[in-house]
Amino acid sequence: MRKLQGEMDHFLRKHFAFLASFWNKFLPNGVPNNHSLDFLEQDLGSLNPTLDPKDPGPSSSLFGVLYDFTARNADELSVNRGDKLCVLKEEGEYVLARRLSGDPVVGYVPANYVSKIGQEPVAQPVWYISGISRNKAQILLLSSPNRHGSFLIRDSESNKGEYSLSVRNHAKVRHFRIYKDPGGSLYLEKEHMFSNLEQLLAYYTVNWKVIQSPLLQPCIQKRSSEADQWERPRSEFKLWRKMGEGCFGEVWEGMWKNTVPVAIKIMKQVNMRDDFAKEIQNLKSLKHTRLIKLLAICSVGEPVYIVTELMRKGNLHSYLNSIAGKELTKHHLLSISCQVADGMTYLEEQHVVHRDLAARNILVGDDLACKIADFGLARLLKDDIYSTSGNAMIPVKWTAPEAAVYQTYSLKSDVWSYGILLYEVFTYGQNPYEGMTNQETIQQITRGYRLPRPNNCYPEIYSIMLDCWKANPEDRPTFLILREQLFSIYKWAPHPFS
Ligand code: ATP
Repeated sequence: MRKLQGEMDHFLRKHFAFLASFWNKFLPNGVPNNHSLDFLEQDLGSLNPTLDPKDPGPSSSLFGVLYDFTARNADELSVNRGDKLCVLKEEGEYVLARRLSGDPVVGYVPANYVSKIGQEPVAQPVWYISGISRNKAQILLLSSPNRHGSFLIRDSESNKGEYSLSVRNHAKVRHFRIYKDPGGSLYLEKEHMFSNLEQLLAYYTVNWKVIQSPLLQPCIQKRSSEADQWERPRSEFKLWRKMGEGCFGEVWEGMWKNTVPVAIKIMKQVNMRDDFAKEIQNLKSLKHTRLIKLLAICSVGEPVYIVTELMRKGNLHSYLNSIAGKELTKHHLLSISCQVADGMTYLEEQHVVHRDLAARNILVGDDLACKIADFGLARLLKDDIYSTSGNAMIPVKWTAPEAAVYQTYSLKSDVWSYGILLYEVFTYGQNPYEGMTNQETIQQITRGYRLPRPNNCYPEIYSIMLDCWKANPEDRPTFLILREQLFSIYKWAPHPFS
């Protein structure tokens, strides 16, 4: 009996290696899971290179830079995203590289900041794929290298929060609905409930006859080189301190490979993967110094991490309300307004409407650097207007009347929100329309009411606010114009230290 059990264990482990963590938990004699995070740790102080720019070394090869990196000591090399490097030596978590453009300087760059040019995209087996429709799942499973017995779990299209199991059975794909009971248990048949998808898969891997479709191997999804460029193993990140929480999940301050301080957004629930996917897509395609920068993604397994640059002072709304925020001069407030207008001008050039511009979605870093964040709602405008079908979760007090009432978003509705943001900035974080409900706000706005001029606000700035709140979207300025106006006010406004 013991022998039979041993053989069974061996068989399951060998053939269903993708469920390793499950077997380790439930088959006690198994190989210990030695996925320690600590093997990556390295004494960075021991890096002491001898640099010879003339010696490319035998293993030199061409790499591209994925992220800007600023050297912190004389041995390191500052590089910008897109630079080409000749890598002379790979040393643990660093590569010794020579820059191929500009001066031929040599120095160390973190290995995760570069990627080999021309490297083939890697194909990875994965059993959970988010944001994939029934049709796409079918096409994927029927295409090579997938074969009979390949399977995947996807979000159910018709029942939000539930899943479907798609399995290739020779030349056909069969789909099974995975139900969720009110307690959160998952099941295909009511008599077999599971607390997670991994357990469910483990059961039907062994009892496949019930569904008459063997689950032989997880689907192989060819990952594009773009996806590989951002994807990093979760073990590279350490979480330090929770900094905040939004409706998608928690945000933590953390460290990447013990060297780079980062912000890590951790997804709350699997069924929010779609919303995350949109935010990630926007972060990947939009690049500007005034926009929060995506550094990495961990989307293999749970929970999903979105890793961005760390903005130590948190969101602008809280910062303006803090003791340090209250000490900001009008000149500082102008600088913040100019930076946001600069970032929004970039979005305008890209025809992207943010839809949730507000002080809470601006992040503040050292030296009062401000960056626009929260692209969860951002959309590329195909025409000039983006319409949504519902108005759930609209931040009414920041939203232009035509967007709040008719859900028609445009760059000009972002301009309205920018006016509200100016109000937040020049009132040191006061909430707009204090004491009014959302309904009252819309009514008052439609009747022509506008927020009053904040105390000590330059009249020129208030006049810009009023321009942003013109009833007819066409009459509102563009961000390009706003940026010019604000920059010129910034230039002539008395500087507190001059
Ligand atoms: P939602 O995403 O629900 O619209 P939100 O913008 O408040 O709401 P998150 O983007 O999840 O939610 O961020 C929550 C909080 O975490 C922010 O308000 C901010 O204080 C902090 N935070 C987010 N990203 C960073 C970052 N890169 N650096 C520093 N703090 C951050």
